[in-house]
Amino acid sequence: MSNTQTHVFQTEISQLLDLMINSLYSQKEIFLRELISNSSDAIDKRRFEALTDATLLSDDEELAVTITTDKEANTITISDNGIGMGHDEIIENIGTIARSGTKKFMQALKSESDSNGDVSLIGQFGVGFYSVFMVADKVTLITRRAGAEQAYQWESDGKGEFTIADTQREDAGTSITLHLRDEESEYLEDFRLKHIINKYSEHISLPIKMLGSAPLDDEGNPKEGEEAEFETVNKGTALWARPKSEVSDEEYQSFYQSLSYDMEPPLSTLHHKVEGNLEYTSLLFIPKKAPYDLWNREDKKGIKLYVRRIFITDDAENLMPNYLRFIKGVIDSSDLPLNVSREILQSDRDIKKIKGRAVKRVLDELKRIAKDEPNTYQEFWKEFGQVIKEGVVEDMANKDNITPLLRFASTESDEQTVSLEEYAGRMKEDQDAIYYITAESHKAAKGSPHLEMFAKKGIEVLLMSDPVDEWLANSLPEFNEKPLKSVTKGDLELSDDEKKEQEEQKEALSSITEKLKEALKDSVKDVRLTNRLTESPACLVADENDPGANLERIMKAMGQDAPSSMPILEINPDHALIKQLDQNNEHFNDWALVLFDQAALSEGAQLKDPASYVKLVNKLLVN
Ligand code: ADP
Ligand code: MG
Repeated sequence: MSNTQTHVFQTEISQLLDLMINSLYSQKEIFLRELISNSSDAIDKRRFEALTDATLLSDDEELAVTITTDKEANTITISDNGIGMGHDEIIENIGTIARSGTKKFMQALKSESDSNGDVSLIGQFGVGFYSVFMVADKVTLITRRAGAEQAYQWESDGKGEFTIADTQREDAGTSITLHLRDEESEYLEDFRLKHIINKYSEHISLPIKMLGSAPLDDEGNPKEGEEAEFETVNKGTALWARPKSEVSDEEYQSFYQSLSYDMEPPLSTLHHKVEGNLEYTSLLFIPKKAPYDLWNREDKKGIKLYVRRIFITDDAENLMPNYLRFIKGVIDSSDLPLNVSREILQSDRDIKKIKGRAVKRVLDELKRIAKDEPNTYQEFWKEFGQVIKEGVVEDMANKDNITPLLRFASTESDEQTVSLEEYAGRMKEDQDAIYYITAESHKAAKGSPHLEMFAKKGIEVLLMSDPVDEWLANSLPEFNEKPLKSVTKGDLELSDDEKKEQEEQKEALSSITEKLKEALKDSVKDVRLTNRLTESPACLVADENDPGANLERIMKAMGQDAPSSMPILEINPDHALIKQLDQNNEHFNDWALVLFDQAALSEGAQLKDPASYVKLVNKLLVN
């Protein structure tokens, strides 16, 4: 071979290959599923690219995956006439650059209690190709990119290095030959291979072909001069195109598995054929468990779009909003033009309509589960609640459909189980707001001094501590005409008696408040009396229109400019410490600083200068 270059596997990939080579995993057969799935992707891509560049595919070429074996050489070859790869694509896709899932997959393998791990998940992590080294001690891949002349051969024994060399290939596509280890010769048997294809690749909607047996003569011997022909060994029909009544639960589940690599059955299966002006079929699955990459917002591949059974894209952004990125499924439209480009997709009105209805279906189903199967819904919320919350911010149009799905922790429940409806149902007669607090952690929220008066009055407060909660609260000004109000912001409503009492205390303490304000003029906007507190001497509140301490903290953590606004210090006139404050005391300013720092601390904030706080407290303790 000319031009052979030797490359070293990227370190993480090398480690992954070691795991594969030494794997004791019992279902090594999944390598075949991975290769067929890659071939199927490659064929989808070729078909799609050919929509805009007809030279990439001639009309008479049948797109298929072909599997052949050679018992003498101990090899199995999986061939496709898909898009193929150019030199740089090989480098990028296999061996040189680790996918983000590489490490995560290894961690997942190691965290399994049984030391062999569930290798079957490999496809979910985007490194399925490497599973071939569970059964092969050498792998040869020959590939030619559609539209290019030059073909390349990639070869490796999985031990640290691989080679790439120039070669020839008659047509575009990829062939992968596995030199099987001696103990893996079962993969040379047709019946075994057919069984595996049946089990895992049933739903690949293109033909998978194997060599049938040669025609026999009357005596049962192969007929002279006649060769065996290739036969299609899978059904190759699109499951979603079949009527609902003819698809069994098992078939739905195995189709879901082929899309998600999730071994558990889905929470819900939503299969609809829509007729009329806009004709399409949608088959959507709500999973039970979050995938490992739920937080990777860049790579959304949940929904596949087909036009009359031809795969168009799995760039799902156009088909599901971000906050439903965990939904898996297929949408097949009869009305879209085949040559839709990404740009057209983004602005296409039919696509927008289809997306809108699909979203509605999912939200309706979640609503149904929440109502009919509250325990199941609770499980779902644990997995996906944080993501659903994004929906309130992201999808204004569906806000009213999403809000009833929300669940919160509250002063009545440490788990996120309280719906707004439930909260509203428990509100005090004269309570006219839904109260909440946002904080860095559940513990900080629960322990906040701001809750003291609410606890005394028996008013429930929602405790919010997920990062998304600040945005959620801002996007949710009211529920059922009751405003949502942060307990850390603005004034608290008082009864007439309380007002009168406060006026009197205000009078009595006016010079103290003034003096505190003067002492803390660099840190606070104002100092005033509070009736929020029963046990603590002081707390910090944000002005009604200021962002608040928690949001500022989150924005800083995200590296964004946070508009620093000064808080208001509220003091508890009934607290011994406040009562004792003596404006003529020579340490008055120190007391003021300690009060301020304590108030910040009790909210879970970090002091700007903890050392001087400690010094200050010690100084006062000694006095
Ligand atoms: P994934 O399929 O999740 O991307 P794999 O490890 O299975 O991860 O494959 C890695 C990449 O190698 C694929 O994304 C694709 O770019 C390339 N590849 C693998 N098999 C083929 C094939 N038969 N034809 C074209 N490209 C392929
Ligand atoms: Mg793959």
